[in-house]
Amino acid sequence: FNVPIAVNEPVKSYAPGTPERDAVLKAYKEMYTSTIDVPLYINGQDVITGKTTTMSPPHDHKHVLGTYHLAEKTHVEDAISTALEARKAWSLMPWEQRAAIFLKAAELVAGPYRYKINAATMLAQSKNIFQAEIDAACELVDFLRFNVQYMTEIYSEQPKSTSDAWNRVEYRPLEGFTYAVTPFNFTAIAGNLPACMALMGNVVVWKPSDSQVYSAKVIMDIFEEAGVPPGVINVVFGDPVMISNTVLSSPDFSGLHFTGSTFIFKELWKQIGNNIHNYKTYPRIVGETGGKDFIMAHKSADAKQVATAIVRGAFEFQGQKCSAASRAYVPESLWNDVKKFIIEDVKSFKMGSPEDMSNFITAVIHEGSFDKLAKYIDAAKVDSDVEIIAGGNYDKSKGYFIEPTVIVTSNPNYTTMHTELFGPVITIYVYEDDTYAETLKLVDSTSEYALTGAILSKDRYAITQATTALQNCAGNFYINDKCTGAVVGQQPFGGARASGTNDKAGSPQNLLRWVSTRLIKETF
Ligand code: GLU
Repeated sequence: FNVPIAVNEPVKSYAPGTPERDAVLKAYKEMYTSTIDVPLYINGQDVITGKTTTMSPPHDHKHVLGTYHLAEKTHVEDAISTALEARKAWSLMPWEQRAAIFLKAAELVAGPYRYKINAATMLAQSKNIFQAEIDAACELVDFLRFNVQYMTEIYSEQPKSTSDAWNRVEYRPLEGFTYAVTPFNFTAIAGNLPACMALMGNVVVWKPSDSQVYSAKVIMDIFEEAGVPPGVINVVFGDPVMISNTVLSSPDFSGLHFTGSTFIFKELWKQIGNNIHNYKTYPRIVGETGGKDFIMAHKSADAKQVATAIVRGAFEFQGQKCSAASRAYVPESLWNDVKKFIIEDVKSFKMGSPEDMSNFITAVIHEGSFDKLAKYIDAAKVDSDVEIIAGGNYDKSKGYFIEPTVIVTSNPNYTTMHTELFGPVITIYVYEDDTYAETLKLVDSTSEYALTGAILSKDRYAITQATTALQNCAGNFYINDKCTGAVVGQQPFGGARASGTNDKAGSPQNLLRWVSTRLIKETF
């Protein structure tokens, strides 16, 4: 198959004086000073529903960025019927044309839309420019490019034939329509979930997070300009319960591609189970959900490296990554140094709005998230078995700002050692050096989730011990690195246990979930 070789989109620097810095700030300012009205997008048409709600930047929540329209049940039904209609032509379209559309979309993101999609992500999802660039620009481009490569790898997998019998496999799209439910924390994930299903010939009803409407609108504009035909991807915003009920009660529902909370994913799975007798096919269910990701340090590790892994893993992206480090295990002999480096690093962070490019930390996504984090921080201030060694302050008067907070506990089962908080808070347990093997067992037994984890050590035997003992604790396991920052095309991403179905985002394995193969044997 002759397709362009997928390459990772280079990350731009945004250093002072660079054209990209000026361009993104200009786009940001334009979006901040104007207002937008985001319609639903059904059958290639903007749909105004008459029922709207406002959206605001999390770092500046009194400012209104605009409004978006909320779907009624009939809009969701329209999205389903229009998708089924569009399927007739889309599923028969030669794969090269589908590939070309999404490769074109990748180039639109990398080129003319780069600053717009980054600015929307900074403004409405409160990411600093470096986070927005890595996510909205580069990772989205990477998904779109690598998906095409993986698709051709899949299509080239064919069975053996003989001179009188030709065996061939057709990778048909699923019958019916698929449903994408996407999160606020990655613009790239939001774009990838509907895009990879559509690339494989499926039609999609897409429900983006309420906190990601602005960048969803930019993504949809890009898909339309790239040539995605009307009805192939339909976007509905609004009441998630009503939307999911409507989608999942359709007999033509054939697949769920989800990234979000463990609780919601299980609820949707239950609902699919309850409807199973109504469906024409067994729906595919793919989900990437929560995490309680760990950093495990061995006494042979370098203290500075341990501190950096903890700080970067926990606080980049405000800790709002499924992969973010939220618990760490540090041996006593390293602790004084690790603690000193962590405190120094955290003190150097500036917190504030993303338009000030010197701010490392910006706001968490919304008031619900802020209040939850504040509640756990308050509890840590009074609980006797914990100490806050950095951060601990918060303020929501202008935006939902939570200081990067480091809790140290003498109780390895303390609440924040196992509860997912999804924000810039990490809890550290200091263990006695000679209890390494027991501590590995403890990590395993307290890993309800299994998304990412890291071992830091210079001792090969200790690395092997951890790799074996923690075999089921992480779908992405990092040796001598932080536990975040998977790159499409290099580290396919996903976890097991309560973290999801582990159908690795950015992999042929994921794309295979969106096809139903037909084997054809032709004899001569
Ligand atoms: N792929 C991202 C990483 O490895 C995390 C994605 C997520 O938060 O869902 O950092």
